[in-house]
Amino acid sequence: MWKDRLPGLVAEFLAGHDPGRLGRTDFLRARFDAGLAWIHHPVGLGGLDAPRELQPLVDAAFATAGAPDNAPHRNGIGLGMAAPTIVRHGSPALRERLLRPLWTGEEIWCQLFSEPGAGSDLASVATRAVRDPGGGGRTAGWIIDGQKVWTSLAHRARWGLLLARTDPDLPKHRGLTYFVCDMTAPGVEVRPLRQLTGEAEFNEVFLTDVRLPDDLRLGDVGQGWQVARTTLMNERVAIGGRPTPREGGMIGVLARAWRERPDRRTPGLHDELLRLWVRAEAVRLTGLLVRQRAAAGDPGPEGSAVKLSYAALTQAASGLELELLGADGLRYDGWHMRRPDRVDMLGRTPGYRYLRARGNSIEGGTSEILRDIIAERVLGLPAVPRADRNTAWKDLPR
Ligand SMILES: Cc1cc2nc3c(=O)[nH]c(=O)nc-3n(C[C@H](O)[C@H](O)[C@H](O)COP(=O)(O)OP(=O)(O)OC[C@H]3O[C@@H](n4cnc5c(N)ncnc54)[C@H](O)[C@@H]3O)c2cc1C
Repeated sequence: MWKDRLPGLVAEFLAGHDPGRLGRTDFLRARFDAGLAWIHHPVGLGGLDAPRELQPLVDAAFATAGAPDNAPHRNGIGLGMAAPTIVRHGSPALRERLLRPLWTGEEIWCQLFSEPGAGSDLASVATRAVRDPGGGGRTAGWIIDGQKVWTSLAHRARWGLLLARTDPDLPKHRGLTYFVCDMTAPGVEVRPLRQLTGEAEFNEVFLTDVRLPDDLRLGDVGQGWQVARTTLMNERVAIGGRPTPREGGMIGVLARAWRERPDRRTPGLHDELLRLWVRAEAVRLTGLLVRQRAAAGDPGPEGSAVKLSYAALTQAASGLELELLGADGLRYDGWHMRRPDRVDMLGRTPGYRYLRARGNSIEGGTSEILRDIIAERVLGLPAVPRADRNTAWKDLPR
C-alpha cells in the first residue's frame, strides 16, 4: 500500500540526503530523481506512479523535516500549466529536458497565448510560425514573428508556452501549432506593462525573427488548439482549485479581520461573512474534485466552474474586507512600479487584495467566457452560434 510505503521512502531519502550539506538545488534535484517530486508522475519523470492524493502526505513529511521546498508560488504557470501539457503532449526528449528544472524552480515559465487581437477569442492568434529550412550553418526549425500581451512573469521566465499560426489558409482552430519558446533566444523582447495595482506583474512580448528548433514543438503541426486546451483546462484548475485548507485563502483573511475588529461588526456584515464562508467551502471542495480529475489526465469543463466561482468569491471577500476595516482598509503598500516575481494576494495589504482581485475574473478566461463553457459543456445547452469556424483564418475580418 502506497500510504504505508511513502513515509518510509521519504525517511530513507532524508537519511541519505542532508539538505544542509547538499544545498537547496541539489537536494531538490535528488528528490525529483527519487520520484518524490510529483508522486503520480511516471518513474523517471519525478514520480513513482503513486496515487496523486497522497502527495500532501509526502510534502508534509518533507516540511516537517525542515527540508527546502520548490517555492511553488514562484512558478505557478510552470507547475500548474506547463507540466501537465508537457507530460501529455511532449516528446520523451522534451519531458526529460524540461520537467526537472521546472519542478525544482530553476527554470520559471510563462504563457505566450494572449495577443492584442486575441484574448477571449484565443483561436484567432496572429503570431506566425514559418518553417525555416535551415542551411548556412542554421538547423532547420521555425521562425516566429508576432506580439503577445499580458504575459505574466515573462521577465523572469526561461521558457514560454507559445501558441502560433502555422497555416493561415485553414480555419482558425486548425492552423495553429504549439511550441515551447526559449525566452533567451535572440528576437525575444519583454517590456513591462504596469497594471491597476501599480506594479508590472505582466508584460508585452515582441517576437521578431525568433528561431526555434523543431524539437521544441509540442504536439503535431496543426494540433496547437488541442494542446492549448490541455493548458487552459489546467490553468483554470490551477487558479481556482488550489489546495486550500478549510478557512484558508481569502476567506481566512476575512475571518481573521472579523475576529480582530469586534468594533466594526454589524449584523449585516456577519450575514455576508457567513454567506461567503459557505461559498468558500463549496469552491474548496469542488476544487479537490477537479484536481483529482486533472491528475487522472483531464480536468474537464467543471474546472471552469471552479475558476468562475473562485473569482467571484475573491472579489466579494476582498470587498467585504475593505468594508469591515473601514478607513484602515484603504491603506496601500505603495503604488510604485515594481516587477514582482510572484502574485501574493494574502501577504499584502487589503487595498492591494481588492485591486488585484479585479483581475481574477479576466485572467485564465473571463467569467463571461467561462459561463459559455459551462452552459455548453457542463449543462448541455445549445452552443453559441459561431459563423467563423469554417472560414480560412486569413479571410476573417480583423
Ligand atoms: C492579471 C492577468 C494576468 C494575465 N496573464 C496572462 C498570461 O500570463 N498569459 C496570457 O497569455 N494571457 C494572460 N492574461 C490575459 C487574459 O487571458 C486575457 O485578458 C483574457 O483572456 C481576456 O482577453 P482580452 O483581455 O483580450 O479581452 P477581450 O477578449 O477583448 O474581452 C473584453 C470583454 O468582452 C467580453 N467578451 C469577449 N468575448 C465574449 C463573448 N464571446 N461572449 C461574451 N463576452 C465576451 C469579455 O468577457 C470581456 O469582458 C492575463 C490577464 C490578467 C488580467
